[in-house]
Amino acid sequence: MALYVHKYGGTSVGSIERIEAVADKVKNFRDRGDDVVVVLSAMSGETNRLIGLAKAITPDPDPREMDVLVSTGEQVTIALLCMALVKRGLLARSYTGSQVRILTDSAFSKARIQDIDTDRIREDLAAGRVVVVAGFQGVDDAGNITTLGRGGSDTTGVALAAALKADECHIYTDVDGVYTTDPRV
Ligand code: ASP
Ligand code: MG
Repeated sequence: MALYVHKYGGTSVGSIERIEAVADKVKNFRDRGDDVVVVLSAMSGETNRLIGLAKAITPDPDPREMDVLVSTGEQVTIALLCMALVKRGLLARSYTGSQVRILTDSAFSKARIQDIDTDRIREDLAAGRVVVVAGFQGVDDAGNITTLGRGGSDTTGVALAAALKADECHIYTDVDGVYTTDPRV
């Protein structure tokens, strides 16, 4: 029995059909008895759409509020994937970066991860749950939502795999293609 971190990008969760396909893939791992922590991006195009909304208000949006805004895309996909997993008879729980407590510095839009609290994730895995984490985001020590920079869900996936000492971290570019890296290297 191994612990896998799977990261799925925006295209892989870009529609309900794709999200259902991700749920099937995660279920395959669970059915083999493996533990899975999933890190997701927002649906493709969503982060750009959110940035566009902000820019429609002001060319120079407040950095703190920008991160509150752009972090919402991932909150949508983690909830939808958990619903799809539960529909398949699996136990699953979603967490935003702040809920996990992915602690970062306060550099809005380009925050660096400082620490990841793995206690809650480990409790969920021990209870037989798939844990689904929002990529691209964290929280600073004052409780402000932060984001890690464009493409930051990959960073979340690799950092979480290292923090959990996962056996493998799979960065999926789509549901069928798999890149495997060893988080311990
Ligand atoms: N949704 C964010 C972006 O579009 C993060 C990511 O997808 O990795 O940059
Ligand atoms: Mg990417």
